[in-house]
Amino acid sequence: MESKFDVASIRKHFPILEQKAYGHPLVYLDNAATTQKPRSVVKKIEEAYFSHNANVHRAVHLLSQQATEAHEAARVVVQQFINAAEPDEIVFTRGTTESINLVAFSFGEAFCREGDEILISSMEHHSNIVPWQLLCERKKMTLKVIPIDDNGCLLVDEYEKLLGPKVKLLAITHVSNVLGIENPIKQIIEKAHKQGVPVLVDGAQAVAHMPVDVRALDADFYTFSSHKVFGPTGVGVLYAKRSFLEQMPPYQGGGEMIDQVHFEKTTYNRIPFKFEAGTPDFIGTAALAEALRFIQEIGLDKIADYEKQLVNYALQELSKVEGFQLLGNIPERHAIIPFQLKGIHAYDVGLLLDKLGIAVRTGHHCAQPLMERLAVDSCVRASFAFYNTSSEVDRLQAALKKIYKMFN
Ligand code: PMP
Repeated sequence: MESKFDVASIRKHFPILEQKAYGHPLVYLDNAATTQKPRSVVKKIEEAYFSHNANVHRAVHLLSQQATEAHEAARVVVQQFINAAEPDEIVFTRGTTESINLVAFSFGEAFCREGDEILISSMEHHSNIVPWQLLCERKKMTLKVIPIDDNGCLLVDEYEKLLGPKVKLLAITHVSNVLGIENPIKQIIEKAHKQGVPVLVDGAQAVAHMPVDVRALDADFYTFSSHKVFGPTGVGVLYAKRSFLEQMPPYQGGGEMIDQVHFEKTTYNRIPFKFEAGTPDFIGTAALAEALRFIQEIGLDKIADYEKQLVNYALQELSKVEGFQLLGNIPERHAIIPFQLKGIHAYDVGLLLDKLGIAVRTGHHCAQPLMERLAVDSCVRASFAFYNTSSEVDRLQAALKKIYKMFN
């Protein structure tokens, strides 16, 4: 595969990729689960602990001021990364899961009543299903699900039929973590807004692979995890429009989120701090900012182009493997190839690939309802990042050929 993208230079920033697994050069194709970290991100963590580790927002001393500055500067980096209108619309959480739970609880408290409906799609990750089920149980509401076709594409006509007057919110993934399908989010949001329905977009599988502009999308809520975008674990982002954050009650109580505490009555801090109870992961947020800077320097358009080329090459090469069965026959997919090898359990394929130095994921990928809809109990998922190469695709192809032969 010919490409102008200088992947060899990029790989030098990721020491983990130089490792061997069972004597083979490691091929890491589990990027949808978590991404690897460039040196600069890990350096940032070390630098923060060694030079300005102190709790944020509370003290007058120098270290605390430096830590606070780094944490608040990270908020601005995130704001600009997704083109939010202001830093106050960025709430730091522990990850996509916590961001969605926060909205499910807090939006639910502010806007939902018995008999209302929440709309999701059939291709959601469990973390964009279960928080809404909990809300529906708590408030005696109904969860409605937009169906998909046999290839995993959203049925837009059915979606429009479900957008009734009882729907209080639509929560939908930007890119499916199993199929790599990108939903037509802008049009979906337009249709929801016409009916006065706000939309939460789960961007966990999008932000590492394409430029995201929350204002161009007009998303009301947008969530993602740092660890899937080359940043550290334990940090997440909730973008929400100011008007919603201001109307929503706190999700957790504690330090930071208060204005005045008295036994008779407590008042709350302004947004976004109202939603950030307790000590935030201020070192993680600074490291996330570094990760975002790192990929912006490369350019998300360039990353998207390269990954598209790489995935197309992989689809072309893997389809030559006897027994290769792709899940969902869709023309375009983002960085994810879900498949089965005919007659061989996905778990066995994953185990044997591992022994050949290739890391993939097998199972239901935290999307059991989607797997049920597609009538499969598990599949293998090879998921890519911009540091993967065409020769790694060749290694995967050769390994799959070998495994198929072993079983036949
Ligand atoms: N949504 C999607 C689409 C995901 O892929 C994931 C992670 N697999 C999540 C939500 C949950 O992310 P986290 O575990 O980082 O909270």
